[in-house]
Amino acid sequence: MKSSQEMNFDALVVGGGIAGLQVALDLADQNFNVAVVEKDSTVGGKMIRLSKVFPTLDCASCITTPKMAAAAHHENITLFTYCDLKSLDRSGEPITACLTQRPRYVDPVKCIGCRQCEYACPVYVPDQEQGGLTARKAIYIPFSNAIPQIALIDVDNCMLCGKCEKICPTQAVDFFQEPEDFTITAKTAILTTGFDLTPIESKHQYGRGEIPNVITSLQMERILAPHGPYNRVLRPSDGMEPDSIAYVQCAGSRDKSMGISYCSRVCCMYAIKQAMLLSGSLPLADIIIYYMDIRAFGKGYEQFYQNAKAMGIQFVKAKVAMIDEGESGSVAVRYEAQDGEGVTTADHDLVVLSLGMIPDWNPEGICPVSTASDHFLKTIQPKIAPTLTDMEGVFTAGAAAGPKDIVDSITEAGAAAMEASKYMAAMERSKKAVA
Ligand SMILES: Cc1cc2nc3c(=O)[nH]c(=O)nc-3n(C[C@H](O)[C@H](O)[C@H](O)COP(=O)(O)OP(=O)(O)OC[C@H]3O[C@@H](n4cnc5c(N)ncnc54)[C@H](O)[C@@H]3O)c2cc1C
Repeated sequence: MKSSQEMNFDALVVGGGIAGLQVALDLADQNFNVAVVEKDSTVGGKMIRLSKVFPTLDCASCITTPKMAAAAHHENITLFTYCDLKSLDRSGEPITACLTQRPRYVDPVKCIGCRQCEYACPVYVPDQEQGGLTARKAIYIPFSNAIPQIALIDVDNCMLCGKCEKICPTQAVDFFQEPEDFTITAKTAILTTGFDLTPIESKHQYGRGEIPNVITSLQMERILAPHGPYNRVLRPSDGMEPDSIAYVQCAGSRDKSMGISYCSRVCCMYAIKQAMLLSGSLPLADIIIYYMDIRAFGKGYEQFYQNAKAMGIQFVKAKVAMIDEGESGSVAVRYEAQDGEGVTTADHDLVVLSLGMIPDWNPEGICPVSTASDHFLKTIQPKIAPTLTDMEGVFTAGAAAGPKDIVDSITEAGAAAMEASKYMAAMERSKKAVA
């Protein structure tokens, strides 16, 4: 472990998803110096991994990449990717964050992102960026528009053959790189740590992720994405073009048996979006959404839902009780329809679980900020100042404070940036008054 270095910024943003990037850009445009700390090897969060976005069906990558690039090239923003936040405290005047830069085993200054190392690497491992549906190499750049474009070695799978080191034109591969500790001090911090999906393994009635052709909604996002694993819609087990695709709603939300009683707010809309995209790719396929209630809460969302119905997407009001492996790769969905038809079993070629949202970060032992009963960050004035946490000078935005779509995440990011900027201005005023 290398020794600690200290850097000072006006604002520290924890989490480089769409909310964090928007906070950083809004503050940097007001001339504040901003550090963005991201645990992943690239910024962009979940949004850069989506196919298209509701309700406009814009290409997610086309609208996220410019934000990522704007943050990376902004003179007032410094990105720290592949970093672990060890502690974030405010015992004294500035907020102090202790961080560890994880080793990429590739020198970030020397790497030119040419991917020669990746082509030379002989090891193939499942690519989690593509939902595990295709393979990547043991040395890799996460995806083609990742920022920064710096390769990293997955040491758990590297066989140390040295082919990457030999081919690298800038001698950037460094098998001896070590974790480096550093400290950031800042006047304010904004926590934008986002969400994770409810684990597919936690619901045994839905197969715990072990039934072939039962996939998650994020895997379907990748299948539908222009640079997805198959470049078309195929079912994973045998590459067949599916004729019947079902969505199981509330597969990880509004479910007390999983300890998740809240609604994740985006699942109805993303299922409708994916169903519409699927019907464009596979016009003859039957697409069915099993739902408890459709929550189309945002501007233009109800119309989006009505358009899906007009396109022939079938909506069946039912709670799915059980999912089992069917014959020849099919999936048997057992459900009780609300129209009184009783318990029915239907076979589908592919089933997508609309998993809900849980927090991606637990501050316990790292930062004294409180969480609410849903385990997302607690906001102390949810109505009139929804970005305030119970730690002075620390704000939050996006899915870190609860399930949220992109529109609300961006809006909240702007609000958090404004609160942070107001807080810094007030600090300055009180310093001047004392002087
Ligand atoms: C399948 C699916 C489809 C969706 N489709 C749409 C859609 O079409 N339209 C729409 O409006 N919304 C959609 N959403 C919702 C959308 O993804 C979220 O609204 C958005 O990603 C929230 O952005 P965020 O920045 O708050 O969180 P995230 O995207 O989760 O970003 C948070 C970032 O913080 C980082 N992080 C977490 N903890 C730490 C830590 N301790 N230190 C440093 N970094 C950390 C994470 O690595 C991540 O990069 C969809 C969601 C899903 C699951």
